[in-house]
Amino acid sequence: MSKNRLIADMFERIADVLEFKSELPFKVNAYRKAARVIGDLQEDIELVWREGRLDSIPGIGKGMREKIEEFLSTGRMSKYEEVMQGVPAGLLELLKIQNLGPKTLALAHRELGVNNLDDLKRVIEDGSLAQLPGMGAKKVENIRKGLELFQTAQERISLGVALPIVEEVISLMKQRAGNQLGRIHPAGSLRRMRETVGDIDILAETDQGAEVVRTFVSLPIVERVLAAGDTKGSVIVQGGVQVDLRAVPSDSYGSALQYFTGSKAHNVHLRDIAKRRGLKISEYGIFDVARDEKLGGRDEEEIYRVLGMEWIPPELREDRGEIEAALEKKLPRLVDLSDLKGDLHVHTRYSDGAATLEQMAEAAKKLGYVYLGVCDHSRTAKYARGLEIETLLKQLEEIEKLNRELNGFRLLSGTEVDILADGSLDFPDEVLEKLDVVVASIHSGFKQNVSERMIRAMENPHVDIIGHPTGRLISKREGYDVDVDKILDAAARTHTALEINAFYDRLDLSDLNARRAAEKGIMLAINTDSHHPEHLWMIRFGVGTARRAWLGPENVLNCLPLDQLLQWLKVHKQ
Ligand SMILES: [Zn+2]
Ligand SMILES: [Zn+2]
Repeated sequence: MSKNRLIADMFERIADVLEFKSELPFKVNAYRKAARVIGDLQEDIELVWREGRLDSIPGIGKGMREKIEEFLSTGRMSKYEEVMQGVPAGLLELLKIQNLGPKTLALAHRELGVNNLDDLKRVIEDGSLAQLPGMGAKKVENIRKGLELFQTAQERISLGVALPIVEEVISLMKQRAGNQLGRIHPAGSLRRMRETVGDIDILAETDQGAEVVRTFVSLPIVERVLAAGDTKGSVIVQGGVQVDLRAVPSDSYGSALQYFTGSKAHNVHLRDIAKRRGLKISEYGIFDVARDEKLGGRDEEEIYRVLGMEWIPPELREDRGEIEAALEKKLPRLVDLSDLKGDLHVHTRYSDGAATLEQMAEAAKKLGYVYLGVCDHSRTAKYARGLEIETLLKQLEEIEKLNRELNGFRLLSGTEVDILADGSLDFPDEVLEKLDVVVASIHSGFKQNVSERMIRAMENPHVDIIGHPTGRLISKREGYDVDVDKILDAAARTHTALEINAFYDRLDLSDLNARRAAEKGIMLAINTDSHHPEHLWMIRFGVGTARRAWLGPENVLNCLPLDQLLQWLKVHKQ
């Protein structure tokens, strides 16, 4: 793990414990802020420190700087050690549970001796938690829900964590295993781009399995070796994630990749079809049972071809109709990363983003985009430094000026306007109509008439896109109390696009909801909601979700070239 991540995690932990110990909010917030700044920093913190530039990092004061220096020079942070003293490790973990605040936890710890997850489950079950002052059945029920969510998150890693690990392993293996290594791919739910990943499985093509496995288990990011054999190695990498690598010979690489990619339901269905035709598929190949003959296995395509099918993209392999479509040679042409012409929802320093308009534009150009929608928060979103009308108009001017300088690239002026408690918008129509693109989102009142408010927002002629429509956070929050069917009907009726928010913890709409939206003719916008230039790459998760939703470029708003997009934005509500 990089030093940036380590330091950010330590600061985050300190903030958690201070909050648990009922320290003053400003102290807690100072550590949270420092954690965010370091976590988002693009440069290697160690390098910044060596060059004596720590004081150039905005948002890092003297106190925090000293702690960073201490850690980088000694490998220890005395404040961290001091704070952690006497706090059981199991207790700290519980702070990640939604609806269980540090104050409640402190009370449960003091009064009921809650020190870990099992203790917490016990006091929920036996009713003693509900008996504590200020608690009650409803609060405990919410904590129980948070606990369930937390446990699922523990079992599965989010795609946003898993993918960078896998890519690092693969790139290191390519450097180090040299010509002993042929093809190398991730398998499993990661290859299918599911929003959370169980086991991380990597397949490596080689005829020198033992050596390749040895290279794998001695990679620098490996923290602990669980097993190292001739065909398989298992390790825990930094961050505590388990990664398995299987060494596979060339003539069965394709069948092994197909087999380990899954899903289970997809493979069961395939095996059924194979059986009816006197064939057998396994990780070793596809075979004619009667003649005991191997018909393929070197490439995945062979398996599907022998079964009379088109090759099925991994994202579709969930047994949701893809096998039938592949048999009829009617698989859709799925949207691809290279189809995207831009991102329609990013933030800048004007609100709670970390970068300037120019920096965001430069980063977007590097990705090959031709436009970028600047959608900072609106005035009611105080926590996110939402813009007053005056500032928004100033930003508009700056965008126009920049657009005269940016060759072949266009910043689109926009806003992520809050949908207020009564369903009205945070900016009046005469302001919204000046903007190229309007994203409307709910950021407060998650339980108050969410569907009705969203529908009213869609009825506004200036609203182009509804941002993160269900409000879920994959590892932390269930989402708004929203009626998805009603939202989809209203979006179809009002010709409003819905977002696939690509930020890895959101992926909102989900694959299934996005598929239903497209079936109703609704346009989807794949946006990252970036608050930093480094976030723009997460568009890949949105594209993965869109592919899982069977979407083609024709379903995705930001696959339109600039002139057609501007035209759509102008007329779609008419
Ligand atoms: Zn938002
Ligand atoms: Zn946003």
